[in-house]
Amino acid sequence: MSFYDELKLLSREQLKLALYSIGPAEVERALVNSEGDLSSLMALLSPAAEPYIEEMAIRAAEITRQRFGTNIGMYLPLYLSNLCANDCDYCGFSMSNKLKRKFLTADELQQEMNIIKGQGFDSILLVSGEHESKVGIDYFCSMLPLVKKQFSYVAMEVQPLEEDEYRRLVNLGLDAVMLYQETYNPTTYQKHHTWGKKQDYRYRVESPERIARSGVDKIGLGVLLGLDDWRLDALLLGHHLSYLERHYWRCRYSLSLPRLRPCTGGISPQTVLTDKGLVQLICAFRLFNQQLEISLSTRESASFRDNLYGLGVTHISAGSSTEPGGYSNPKSQLDQFEINDDRSSAETVNAMLAKGFTPVWKDWQSEWVNLA
Ligand code: SF4
Repeated sequence: MSFYDELKLLSREQLKLALYSIGPAEVERALVNSEGDLSSLMALLSPAAEPYIEEMAIRAAEITRQRFGTNIGMYLPLYLSNLCANDCDYCGFSMSNKLKRKFLTADELQQEMNIIKGQGFDSILLVSGEHESKVGIDYFCSMLPLVKKQFSYVAMEVQPLEEDEYRRLVNLGLDAVMLYQETYNPTTYQKHHTWGKKQDYRYRVESPERIARSGVDKIGLGVLLGLDDWRLDALLLGHHLSYLERHYWRCRYSLSLPRLRPCTGGISPQTVLTDKGLVQLICAFRLFNQQLEISLSTRESASFRDNLYGLGVTHISAGSSTEPGGYSNPKSQLDQFEINDDRSSAETVNAMLAKGFTPVWKDWQSEWVNLA
C-alpha cells in the first residue's frame, strides 16, 4: 500500500477535530516521550501546546545538542533554470508570469559553480522549474557530472521523475532529492496548482517512494506553510515521514519548512504562521524525530535564523540567489521568490560563530561510504 492509499484512509475532519481538542495532559505526556509517536506529534503541534513552547524548546535544544553538537551544515541553491510548464499561484516561475526565461549552459553553470565554490561551499542544491522538454532528464544527465566534479554532496529540487530516471541520476552521483508536497489537502492542492503536470496530486504524493527505490542517500520532504492549515499539514507531513522511514529505512530524511514569501504575481498566505508557530513546529519535529535533518532557507529573516540554530535546525543556506545565473549576474529579476536574509555567506557564518555554532562545509564523500 502506497502512502497515497494510507492517506486516503485518514479522515481529515477527524484528524482536525482531534488536533484541536487536545488538552494539556496530552501535551505534558508528549513532552516526556514523543519519539516516533504520531499522537505525540499531534499533541505538540496542537494549539494546546502553545503555553509549553519554552519547555519544548529546552527539550529540543538538548536533543539537537546530543545528536548534532554545535554543527550546522552549509549548502547553497544553484538555479539551473526558471522555465516552467506549470502554473502555481504562489510562485514567480509560473508559466503565465511574464518574465525573461533561461536555463544555464554548461559554461554558465561553471561560472556559477566557481563563485559558490569560492565561498567555501561543498554541498549544493540544484534547483529548476518544471519543464520536461528543455530542462528534463537528458539536461540533468549532461549537467550532473560537471557538478559532481566540484561538489561532494549534490542534491536536486526539480520536477518529479520516474524511478528509472532517478536511478540514472544516482548512478551519475546524485546524493539527495528534495520534493515538497506543498499541501496534503487535495482540495487546496488543486486550487493552487492551476495548470500543468503538477496538478497530479497522487503522482506527487507517491514521488518520494520512487526516489527511495532509486537508492538515493537522502530525501527532503516539506510543505509550503501558508497554503492550508499549517498544523494539519505538518501532522500529515509527519505521517508521510513515518511511512517512508518504515518502508525505506536505508534512506536519510530531511525536512524543509518554508513559509510563503512574496513573489511576482503571487498570493497572500491563507493562514499565517507566526514566528512563534514556526518555533513550535520545529521543536515538535525535533521531539518526534531525533535524527531528522531540518533546514532553514533565506526565506526567513537574519535575526530569526540566528536564534533558531540550537532548537533543531541542522542545515542552512546563506548568501542565496533564487535566479538562474544569479551568482555571476545578480539582480536580473528572474527570481522565484524574494529572500528575507540577504547577508553574504561570510556575514551569516560570523553571526553563527558568535552564537557558538560551527559551520560544516563538508560532511560527505561518497567513495568513503561505498567502501563498506
Ligand atoms: S512551484 Fe515549481 S512547478 Fe510551480 S510554478 Fe514554481 S517552479 Fe513551476
